[in-house]
Formats: sequence, structure tokens, C-alpha cells
Amino acid sequence: MPVKPDCEKLCPEWPCDDPFEFKGVWVVAEADENELNEASLQMLTPAKKIASKLGEKIVGILVGYNVKKWADELIKHGADEVIVVDDERLKTYYPRVYGQVIVDLAKKYKPSVILVSATMRGREMAPYIANTLRTGITADCTDFDVDEKTGDVLMIRPPFAAIMLAYIKTPFRKPQMGTARPNVFPVPPRDESRSGPVIEEKAEIIPPGMELAYYKPVKREEVLIEKAEIIVSVGKGIGGPDGVKLAEKLASLLGGVVAGSRKAVDAGWIPPERQVGQTGKSVKPVLYIAIGISGAAQHMIGVREAGRIVAINIDPDAPIFNQADYGIIGDYREIVPALIEELERLKKEGPKAIEELLKEEEEAAAS
Ligand SMILES: Cc1cc2nc3c(=O)[nH]c(=O)nc-3n(C[C@H](O)[C@H](O)[C@H](O)COP(=O)(O)OP(=O)(O)OC[C@H]3O[C@@H](n4cnc5c(N)ncnc54)[C@H](O)[C@@H]3O)c2cc1C
Repeated sequence: MPVKPDCEKLCPEWPCDDPFEFKGVWVVAEADENELNEASLQMLTPAKKIASKLGEKIVGILVGYNVKKWADELIKHGADEVIVVDDERLKTYYPRVYGQVIVDLAKKYKPSVILVSATMRGREMAPYIANTLRTGITADCTDFDVDEKTGDVLMIRPPFAAIMLAYIKTPFRKPQMGTARPNVFPVPPRDESRSGPVIEEKAEIIPPGMELAYYKPVKREEVLIEKAEIIVSVGKGIGGPDGVKLAEKLASLLGGVVAGSRKAVDAGWIPPERQVGQTGKSVKPVLYIAIGISGAAQHMIGVREAGRIVAINIDPDAPIFNQADYGIIGDYREIVPALIEELERLKKEGPKAIEELLKEEEEAAAS
């Protein structure tokens, strides 16, 4: 059970409220007229774990213009209720304006936890909210739990440069805030039978303190690795651009995209927006082929949600083999061309060749 901290001693300049007053696990959803960001739905997964352990409800927060329509989507995916501030003056996103609306809501409703997805907007807004509410925040969590003795939320993440996990809590301040990168958690399944209240709130909209002079959409990377079904990922072991070309050929035959480890990015072989891992992106492909990647914890954290991992590595003791579903030990310069050749053959010969191959495999497995 939570205990009221000795606030005056701990931080006399910030008197804190009674922790028993704070209830509810909030998920700040990111939405505009056209889209509800999938990463917001993903945050409902850890929210569910925390809320069920605390015995509290999950509340979705929607701030913007013409965004009330997304409330039902949040409920169907797990929110118990949704608070909406839908205002034409929120049509343009300004981090301070949006952040202040959430601060005002938090002051009124006193949630015990606020979760924000670490998207570009989330990264901008969450620290503003935490600082204005004078509370702590843990960025880029990879898991959340609850300390059964104290009821404190445990924000779990790898600390810098360490192969271990840090359990961070905010014991003396409420709400407790945490962010997680997109794709670290799955979207909870949609349940058509769910329904819940949608509370419409009016908010005071502060002046943004800046003016949007013009809007020029940034040309986006056409390849979004976070959405790819098949990823061929290269590491330092690929040795250079020629190896990347081989990986690209394999990826194109499989209908996938190429990504890489930080060392491959640092070497300039792979663009930074295609880096997988702790300081890159989290991905959730059906198939992840890792070529010349050792399997450092900071890389593997980005492939937690991958369906199947195939590792190709020359070193039989490479740590990636501990986590891969299939491991091929050997020089990629021999293995990848052989895979390409076989895929080209199958493509040329059509479905019958694939059927024959599957039959051969079944027979081999049975014998
Ligand atoms: C705070 C922090 C954050 C980080 N964030 C990330 C991150 O987001 N993403 C990330 O990837 N890393 C990250 N790192 C770096 C991470 O710790 C590793 O250094 C990095 O992932 C290693 O990359 P690699 O596997 O490509 O290279 P290496 O560890 O050098 O491995 C190369 C592998 O290639 C194999 N190899 C060599 N030649 C061949 C061949 N011919 N055929 C087949 N295999 C071959 C070797 O056996 C070896 O296993 C981070 C580190 C820190 C400290």
C-alpha cells in the first residue's frame, strides 16, 4: 500500500498531494483529424498490466481537433474511458499548448500514472508535462511492472552501455510518468463488445508563444522499417557496401527491406533511419534475417516483437544464436548467394517447385 511520503522534508519547495488521491492509468493518445497513431494503441498494453495490478482503470486522453471520433477505437482496444479535449484552436499542433492541456487535465483528475508513446510528439510533450507537474519521468522503457509492496510503478529499461535492466520508480511524486518507443509493445486485440464513457472537457488554450509561418511536409523515407513484414538486417560483419548489395538482393527477392545494426549505420552503409535497436527503431516483422550481427543486447531489444529470427554468422559462439529461431553458421559470402540462387530458382519454377521443396522437407523431418 502506498505510504504518504514525508514531503516537507524531501522537497519543501514542492509540496505534494496525498498519493491516495491519485487514481487511473492514463494513455496520452496521439491523433489528428486523419489518423490515430498506432503507437498510442500499443501503450494500452503496458497500461493494462499496470492498471490490473493497481486495481485502477485505464483512461485514454485525446487532445486535438476533430479527434473525438477516435475515442471508441481506444475503448475497443482496452481503455475503460476516454477524456477528450476537441477544439478548433488545437488544429495546429504546438507542443506547449498540447502539453499544457494535458497538465491541466492531470491537475484536475489526478491520475496515478501517465504513459506516452515516445514518438516525435511524445518526446517533445512528455518532458514538458512531467516538468510542469514537478514529477519524474523515465524515457524509452522496455517494460513496466508494479512494486507489490509499495504500489510504485517500476519503469524498466536498459541503462546506457550496460547489459542489464534498470528498475526506476518515482516514489515521492505523482503522477508517475513513462514513455516507450513505438513497436516495443503490441497493439492489444480489438474487442467489439467493449464500451465506456467518453468525457468531453473544455480546456484553456494558452498562446503558443510561436507562430507557424509555413508548413512544408518533409520528404519521408519511403522505407519504413517499423512497418516491414520482412527485414534483412546487416551488421559490421557484412564488411562494406558490396555486402549490403547482396542483402538488398535477398530482401528484394523476399519482398522485404534492408535495415542494420548501429555499427553498420556508423560505418555509413545503412541510413540512420533504418537502424534497429535501443537507439534506433523497434521492429516487428514476421521474418528478421540478421547477417553479420553479433546480437548485442542493445540491438536485440529492437527485435523483441519479430516473429522469426534467422541469424547468419561466422562465429558459432555469437550471442545472436541464443535468441535466433534458426541459426546458420558460416561466411555470409557463401550463404547469402546460395539463398539468392535457391530463391531465384523457386521464383522461376513457380509454385510447383515450392510444393516439392516443402514435401522434401516434410519427408526429411519425418525420417
Ligand atoms: C547506449 C547504447 C546504445 C546502443 N544502441 C544500439 C542500437 O540501437 N542498435 C544496435 O545495433 N546497436 C546499438 N548499440 C551498439 C551495440 O552495443 C553493439 O556494439 C552493436 O549492435 C554491434 O553491431 P554488430 O553486431 O553489427 O557488430 P559486431 O558486434 O562487431 O558483430 C559483427 C558480427 O559479424 C560476424 N561476422 C564477421 N564476418 C562475418 C562473415 N563474413 N559472415 C558472417 N558473419 C560475420 C562476427 O562474428 C560478429 O558476430 C548501442 C550501444 C550502446 C552503448
